[in-house]
Amino acid sequence: MSELRERYASVSAGIPDGVELIAVSKTRPNEAIQEVYDLGHRAFGENRPQELRDKAPALPNDIEWHFIGRLQSNKVKYVVPHATLIHSIDSVRLLDEVNKRASSLNKVQDVLIQVHIAQEEAKTGFSPEELDECIQYSLKEHKHIRIRGLMGMATFTEHEQQIESEFSGLKKRFDGLVEGFQGANCPLDILSMGMSGDASIAMAQGSTMVRIGTAIFGKRF
Ligand SMILES: *Cc1c(COP(=O)(O)O)cnc(C)c1O
Repeated sequence: MSELRERYASVSAGIPDGVELIAVSKTRPNEAIQEVYDLGHRAFGENRPQELRDKAPALPNDIEWHFIGRLQSNKVKYVVPHATLIHSIDSVRLLDEVNKRASSLNKVQDVLIQVHIAQEEAKTGFSPEELDECIQYSLKEHKHIRIRGLMGMATFTEHEQQIESEFSGLKKRFDGLVEGFQGANCPLDILSMGMSGDASIAMAQGSTMVRIGTAIFGKRF
């Protein structure tokens, strides 16, 4: 068995029912993606708009592409035609743009709202307090957006308790939104949290979707 197959098998063995594994394939060649696809995997994550635009047409068309990286309004056109789910909505302006592009493609775009839970300034997202207003606005204005849930990235730290409390805070916020807003245009059925280094903590705190790159494909250079 190739190293890639072994790592994929061991990662997927650790994913319980009710949690979906997104294989984060950013920077990886199409051959590596195809190899994981041939094992039966369909959900892959990319973080650069042009990379997604170039990879998607070259790979099987039943791949579900997840866009997980920072997205500027002028790059939305590269992403919406391919994305099953956009995890990284970090502004109302971006949501306006995604709605516009989805409308022109006659598509309803599934999205997650990214929430800033880490202590690092460099990480992006809405503050937990802004979420109600954003969702209310989108439900009223955006006929081509479906809000599937939230995404968050914890602080990059060795302190597991800090990671755990950031994820559990996001889960509480998510549960509150489910109570207030869940409905047909707003299913709120996905909580995307956890990467190679912190997926087990995230799953213990209620994650329903983990985004794992390094543990499957090896170190990125
Ligand atoms: C790169 C990336 C991941 C995967 O990170 P690994 O540490 O390689 O598992 C997950 N989420 C986002 C948003 C990323 O950019």
